[in-house]
Amino acid sequence: MRWKDFIGAHSHKGGLRRRLLLAGLSLLGGALILNTMAGLYYTRHLILRSSAQLQAEIATRVALEIEEFMEDRLTRLADLAASISLHGSGSDEQKQLAALLLKNERSFEQIAILDERGREALKVTETEIRRANELSDQSESQEFKSAMRGERYIGPVYTPNGPYMTLSLPIRAGSGKIIGVVIGTARLKVLWDIVKNIQFGRAGYAYVVDGTGTLIAYRDTSMVLERRDLSALPEVREFLRKPEMAGDAPAAISRGIDGEDVLSTHAPVKKLRWAVVLAEPAAVALSEIATVRWYAFLPLGMGLLLGGLGISGAANRITKPILELQRGIRSIGAGSLDHQVESESGDEIQELAEGFNKMALELKNFSATQEQKVDQRGQEVAALYDVSTALNKSVDVQGILSAVIAKITEIFHFEATRIFLFNDAMNELEMRASFEADLEYFRGTRGFKRGQGIVGHVANSGEALIFEDVWTDARYAALSKTKALQNAQRHFFAAFPIKNQSHVFGVMTFNGEAPRKLTGDEIPLITSMAEQVAVAVERARLFARVQTRSQHLTVLNEIGAAVSHSLDLEVILGDAVKKVVETLSFDACWIYILEPSEPCLRLRAQTGLSAETAQSVERRPVERGITGKIFETGQPLVSEDLTNDPLYQKISSASKVAELGFKSSAGFPVVANHEIQGVFHVVSYSRHQFTAEELQLLEAIAHTIGVAVEDARLFVEVKDKTLELEKANQELREATRAKSEFIAAMSHELRTPLNIIIGHSELTRDGTFGAVNEQQQAAMQKISRNGRVLLKMINDVLMLSRIEAKKMSLDVATVEIEEVIEQAQTYVEQLKRDHHLEVSWHIDKNIPPVLTDSMKLEEILHNLIGNAFKYTSEGSIEVRVRDLPDKGRVEFSVADTGVGIDPANLGRIFEEFEQVKDSGKNGGVGLGLSIVKKYVELMQGDIRVESEPGKGSKFTFSIPRSVSLHS
Ligand code: ADP
Repeated sequence: MRWKDFIGAHSHKGGLRRRLLLAGLSLLGGALILNTMAGLYYTRHLILRSSAQLQAEIATRVALEIEEFMEDRLTRLADLAASISLHGSGSDEQKQLAALLLKNERSFEQIAILDERGREALKVTETEIRRANELSDQSESQEFKSAMRGERYIGPVYTPNGPYMTLSLPIRAGSGKIIGVVIGTARLKVLWDIVKNIQFGRAGYAYVVDGTGTLIAYRDTSMVLERRDLSALPEVREFLRKPEMAGDAPAAISRGIDGEDVLSTHAPVKKLRWAVVLAEPAAVALSEIATVRWYAFLPLGMGLLLGGLGISGAANRITKPILELQRGIRSIGAGSLDHQVESESGDEIQELAEGFNKMALELKNFSATQEQKVDQRGQEVAALYDVSTALNKSVDVQGILSAVIAKITEIFHFEATRIFLFNDAMNELEMRASFEADLEYFRGTRGFKRGQGIVGHVANSGEALIFEDVWTDARYAALSKTKALQNAQRHFFAAFPIKNQSHVFGVMTFNGEAPRKLTGDEIPLITSMAEQVAVAVERARLFARVQTRSQHLTVLNEIGAAVSHSLDLEVILGDAVKKVVETLSFDACWIYILEPSEPCLRLRAQTGLSAETAQSVERRPVERGITGKIFETGQPLVSEDLTNDPLYQKISSASKVAELGFKSSAGFPVVANHEIQGVFHVVSYSRHQFTAEELQLLEAIAHTIGVAVEDARLFVEVKDKTLELEKANQELREATRAKSEFIAAMSHELRTPLNIIIGHSELTRDGTFGAVNEQQQAAMQKISRNGRVLLKMINDVLMLSRIEAKKMSLDVATVEIEEVIEQAQTYVEQLKRDHHLEVSWHIDKNIPPVLTDSMKLEEILHNLIGNAFKYTSEGSIEVRVRDLPDKGRVEFSVADTGVGIDPANLGRIFEEFEQVKDSGKNGGVGLGLSIVKKYVELMQGDIRVESEPGKGSKFTFSIPRSVSLHS
């Protein structure tokens, strides 16, 4: 990654300052908020606690008040009981005492006095004294029973006509004996008013419940009158669970009497088992909190603001030097190494900045050296580039070498630079290019053998040798043969191999006047240049090879074209030798071909020899001399230097070729049709070095010549054969024509007398010329029958010759098969006269009319049926005609139960004059079936035969329903 990238990649994350600010603010904000929240919580807690305290105080006070009130009433009543015990039950004194109490103590509504049996002795209200008849028995009441047990009785509150409560006490005599009971009905209104009027906070209120949780005092009187059950309210439940205990402080939020959330507490009125409950709506009680909150958040905001400013200042102070540092890095990244970072922070950052400045300075120094190095490297690379461009520009090795030498001299300033390359045979190093400050020096050392001297050694080992000073280097003394450098007063010498992975192509040498050390950069550069030269040399060699190859191919191609251009051997060979000398660098070329009649080789084509010379070497023996040797062995003979070649000397001491003044020669056998037919030879006056490719090419040319010789020979052969055949054919045609003419003429000439013979013999037999005896009659019969057989033969021969002479054509008409069959049946009737054979006819019904030659169809049937009779002595004959509508043909067959035909003869019976042996006695010349076959074919039909010797034969033929007239 480059400097710039490095900085860029990190600077975008940005804001160290922002992050500091963010962290500071979030810390400060968190702390402030926590503080405020805690304050608020605590305030709330205080409010709850103080309100609970207040409530508890009030509740306790009210409970006490109620208790005191009740205690007061009981004391009054006890006083009355004590005073009335001195008087008789229901006495006037008692009445007056009671009335007095009512009058003084307005909180009693009524006083009743019971005797010890529970009967009311008197009953006094504020306004009246009950009469005796209004008095009742209260012996069963709780008031009486409790008091009689000596207890104080405090009854439940009852509400109709205002809240009241009954109290009772025993009346004791001086002895302590209970002699009656006093019952007082206390008015509770005063107490109620107290409860009603209790107010605290902004909406606090109180109520009183009895020991069952029933509401007995509250500001809403109607609810009291309803005697509402409040035992489900949390505060009341708490009281009912622990009647002796006051409510917990601080007050909890619970449900109030009207179902709203309240802060409440209670205090028990122990003696009455009542509870005073105080409640204040939570919303009202805690309304303070909202105000407090407002006051709390204001400082929070202020705190954050001030804190933010403070933190921002601090962050700036920290980040400023860092940003400065960053700017410094950026400008160094951008290349200005002079940049110095200013920082007086006096802390680690300043240390960092100083370190950084130092580093920048070092970097500057380093980069200066680097630049220098890069410059030098650049020069070297440029040199290398120049060299390789020079190399790439051409395949001319010489040009390349000069360019390389020039470049090396320019860069390294050696006194001499020389390039040696191996010659083609790879055994000698030749100097191919050089730069030499002093030309005279190395005159003697322009070539080395492989392994000879330092150059030869490097070429062998493929390893460079560098001598800083040849005067002091022992290796130089050991390796150098000429000591040329010392003679030339030179000190520095180096030899680098020119090589690729597999080959050393040569050596490059450098020398200098003064001792010199090649640097670590120079050695690889020179090595690279040497490698480049190797590449170029190899490429040039390859190029030359490819060029020769393509040239050779062209030559071969041209020769190929020349020889296939004609089939005349003289022309072919003449063209070939001309082409060879034209395209390849030879002085002469010739071809000898074997002369079959006399075993010798004859010069058939040449170029480059004088007519005289050619005349003198026109014939060479097959077994002697160089040409004879090549012909005999079938092996090429090549020599670069005929005069000094022992092999050539041995073959012919006075070689004709050498005699003619040729120096190099190469001869190849010409092979045609797997046999050596001649010799192909190239020669040159000067010494010619034959390369492998060249020899291959010459061999290929010899081969091409062989093919051409063979072709020409074949052509001549074929031409002669064709001529012969043509002649024979002509003769044959003549003969056939003559034969046909002769047969036609002869047949015609024979028929006339034969007909006369047959006619007259029959007339004689029938007694036209006078009576004949039986013997004469039989003789006449024989003459007539044999005459007819003869006539048939002549007719057949005539017919056949007409067919052969193509004088036979179809006489096409619409033919009813039925008519043809009728005709055949008439013929059968005739035959039956001589042979008594059963003939059955199976003719398909409704065969449509056929378009064909009816006469020939009848003739075919006559022949087949006639044969069936001829070759059957007993049994039957079956004639069938089938319609084959699918094929559009009609099929006829004639089958017999006669002698049959040997399978070996089946193929021959349709040929002319073919008779199966021993069947001749039946009278015939073997023409019938061949006429049948020719007719069937003429009618575009086909015929076949199946037969088994001894069992019979079946001939089947089919013809198209309508013959095509155009084929
Ligand atoms: P040929 O005049 O001898 O009958 P063909 O050409 O008619 O001459 O017959 C050739 C030969 O085929 C006959 O010599 C005979 O051997 C044989 N051949 C022809 N038809 C029959 C047949 N129906 N049964 C047996 N052999 C037959």
